[in-house]
Amino acid sequence: RAKGSGRNTLSLFDVELAQQRERRHQVSLELRSALERDALHLQYQPIQTLNEGRLVAVEALARWHSPVLGVVSPAEFIAVAEDTGQILKLGEWVLNAAVRQATAWWRSAGRRVRVSVNVSPLQFLHADFAQVTRAALRAAHLPAEMLQLEITESTVMRDVARTRRQCEELRAMGVRLALDDFGTGYSSLSTLHSLDFHLLKLDRSFVWGLEGDTRREALLRSVVTLAESLSMEIVAEGIETESQRRLLIELGCQLGQGFYLARPLNANDVEQVWGD
Ligand code: C2E
Ligand code: MG
Ligand code: MG
Ligand code: MG
Repeated sequence: RAKGSGRNTLSLFDVELAQQRERRHQVSLELRSALERDALHLQYQPIQTLNEGRLVAVEALARWHSPVLGVVSPAEFIAVAEDTGQILKLGEWVLNAAVRQATAWWRSAGRRVRVSVNVSPLQFLHADFAQVTRAALRAAHLPAEMLQLEITESTVMRDVARTRRQCEELRAMGVRLALDDFGTGYSSLSTLHSLDFHLLKLDRSFVWGLEGDTRREALLRSVVTLAESLSMEIVAEGIETESQRRLLIELGCQLGQGFYLARPLNANDVEQVWGD
């Protein structure tokens, strides 16, 4: 410490840190009661073909409106839940709610809509996860191939060996596996290859930087080719404009997700994008 900043002096940094800690504590407390009261809900964002807008899946996204804190973003409460371990309970709730919804769509409208569920590192690497997944599918009477699980490179990097075992077990069950936020991490291509994902989700930061950047375009072209040769599909995330949609098609990308195509929707509104 610099001379003069004695024991009793609080720096701005200390104050900010204390505020952050207090906020996280509050979020964690409110989240606990929300989980007890079943007060979270899910929205579903369509994943569609880029050319015709045909629905191929929906991504389940957790939503929380706290009576005390107001709307809290998933970026915030998922991070807190991951740090406190609450993600295990939250994640199990999400998984069960999502597969039940997929079954409900199937029963009520005869539509088989695959549902894609985000899984956090702690949750995915937990010894019980495959069991929890199997139980959720069974309880909802949903065939495993109608469930897709999204994990990120940070999960992979935390424990490659365990990720691989978990992927193998889930794959054997028939569940589909997606690598989320692809292009933001540092895992090697050979690691990704060996994990054998069904789907790569190209992060929106990559999509946004695409226009006018010919090197990035070339990179995407080769990623598309590579994915094809490995029988993986690619979804481009965060599409916000018609010109992005066109460019992605040109570069060989067939699937997309983004506000331009469809926003995250309440379950009842998903039927409107089904078409026929
Ligand atoms: P993600 O899995 O990459 O989900 C996509 C995020 O991008 C969503 O944000 C979605 O609303 C947003 N998005 C989609 N299209 C566009 C677009 O065109 N422009 C922009 N700017 N954004 C777009 P959301 O719902 O706020 O979720 C943020 C992150 O929180 C998710 O990123 C995911 O990592 C995490 N998350 C959300 N729900 C869950 C959950 O149930 N479990 C876990 N473990 N994580 C979740
Ligand atoms: Mg995701
Ligand atoms: Mg993503
Ligand atoms: Mg993303």
